[in-house]
Amino acid sequence: MDKVNVTIDGIVAAVPSDYTVLEAARSLNIDIPTLCFLKGINEVGACRMCVVEVERARTLQAACVLPVSEGMVVRTNTPKVREARKTILELILARHNRECTTCSKNLNCELQKLCDEMNIKEVPYQPYEMKVEIDDLSPCVVRDTSKCILCGRCVNVCKKVQGVGAIDFSKRGINTMVTPAFGQSLNDVACIGCGQCIKVCPVGALSEKDDTEEVWQALSNPDLHVIVQTAPAVRVGLGEEFGMEKGAPVTGKMVSALKRLGFDKVFDTDFAADLTIIEEGNELIDRLNNGGKLPLITSCSPGWVKYCEHFFPDFLDNLSTCKSPHEMFGAIAKSYYAKKEGIDPSKIFVVSVMPCTAKKFECKRPELSGTGYADVDVVITTRELARMIKQARINFAKLEDSKFDKILGESTGAGVIFGVTGGVMEAALRTVAEVVTGKELQNVEYTAVRGLEGIREAQVKIGDLDVKVAVANGTGNAKALLDRIRKGEANYHFIEIMGCPGGCINGGGQPFIMDKNEIYMSEVDRADSLYNIDRSMPLRKSHLNPEVKTLYDEYLGKPNSEKAHKLLHTHYTKRSRF
Ligand code: SF4
Ligand code: SF4
Ligand code: SF4
Repeated sequence: MDKVNVTIDGIVAAVPSDYTVLEAARSLNIDIPTLCFLKGINEVGACRMCVVEVERARTLQAACVLPVSEGMVVRTNTPKVREARKTILELILARHNRECTTCSKNLNCELQKLCDEMNIKEVPYQPYEMKVEIDDLSPCVVRDTSKCILCGRCVNVCKKVQGVGAIDFSKRGINTMVTPAFGQSLNDVACIGCGQCIKVCPVGALSEKDDTEEVWQALSNPDLHVIVQTAPAVRVGLGEEFGMEKGAPVTGKMVSALKRLGFDKVFDTDFAADLTIIEEGNELIDRLNNGGKLPLITSCSPGWVKYCEHFFPDFLDNLSTCKSPHEMFGAIAKSYYAKKEGIDPSKIFVVSVMPCTAKKFECKRPELSGTGYADVDVVITTRELARMIKQARINFAKLEDSKFDKILGESTGAGVIFGVTGGVMEAALRTVAEVVTGKELQNVEYTAVRGLEGIREAQVKIGDLDVKVAVANGTGNAKALLDRIRKGEANYHFIEIMGCPGGCINGGGQPFIMDKNEIYMSEVDRADSLYNIDRSMPLRKSHLNPEVKTLYDEYLGKPNSEKAHKLLHTHYTKRSRF
């Protein structure tokens, strides 16, 4: 890469010639504030917070869209720059519904933090009366337009990363707003509920639907037996809400906190992930042997499933009929567990703690009620669980470790890696390889399907068969992959798709990353943490899970049995793409 010489705040350095001034400054440890910038996704110079003085330029320049050039001299901290940034913030605040204490982003807000850092103490401009319009019809995402600062991050994440385009700018001038087409609710358009827009919104204009009150009410209802399950990615994200390092594994503390909150039993979705692998692995073997529809595509990510229903209905028959793990868990809890424990299933209330906002929509699907009751009663995200723990005044960092309860709490390493892109594929291959060959798999790590690239392909030898597999994360990458298949440019036996970039570890309900430069870096920490947990487990293949074996022996019979189909499998629905 060619380099150019620049001087920023008196520091002389050679930087890559394709850098912007913002990148060059940050590479020299000089921080320039931004509110709209998202590397590779939203580089539009909309908020102007990053203005800098450039020698010989007549006006201030936005550093995020200004390319470096040979001999450039830049100053990022002059009276003119400071004054301009302050004025920009004051103007934003004049058109902003300031109610920090009751805002969903209070203490997590980039605007709030910048105002503090820039020493904003008053707004000298006549406030513009923001009309408060709250769209809370979606079960996943709440929009509050009175908080929007028009940065465009959500628009471009939805369009470029997720390939959806459910929201965009509308109207003009002071009336400009970000909204679904024709001012509709997010609930009425092809939004997949992934929450990636929430993750990048710098303010409280987008937030997850808060369902914590429903959980509190269930916990205080003496007639209910309230059980909770936690997805794999929650245990490597939750600690961040309590000041721990990114990706810190907090499984034992999380279980203790849930017990302190008053749940009757604390179970592990990883148990159901193992169950999913057995059902899905056998479905793959059946389709390979008996000429079923290929490629088989995983269906455990509800954002991806809804995306497929809206945009790729011609692939619906390729989707695995397996329910997602937490839905399988709910069905088993209200049938097998209810029977074993002698509890009326109508009195069992299942709470899922998920890294995912799309699962809030999923749990309301009428088809996910194989027992006659909704498999899962309510989904809360990692962030919502953290709020409940804080509300209960539990000192999370000081909690002792506890273990999951029996009989739905045992898991293997294969269940744990479900939380990261490539993990479902790897877990399935571990089981399929042993079932097909009848031999013990020596090396269980399929590293070819690991990594955070958007699309990965591999060929895996299983017995006599060369199985062609692909992994995509983020629905935008899923689109690219499926478009190639549609055109006949690629073909596979088995595909794993997760709706969020990086998989569940970066789900729309995971703790916010304040430094948006690090939004994907944090995935690495959380992924490493899950792989470390997998390595530490005595059992690493789903079909060896003793509680799952007992479930088949005592109740389900065999994988894909009639009973298993009734409880653990489902179907999908073609939806409008608008
Ligand atoms: S978006 Fe930020 S600044 Fe605005 S009310 Fe919410 S916390 Fe306060
Ligand atoms: S939840 Fe996902 S699909 Fe819906 S608007 Fe946000 S980014 Fe787009
Ligand atoms: S909703 Fe949030 S991310 Fe979207 S434009 Fe407004 S402030 Fe930016």
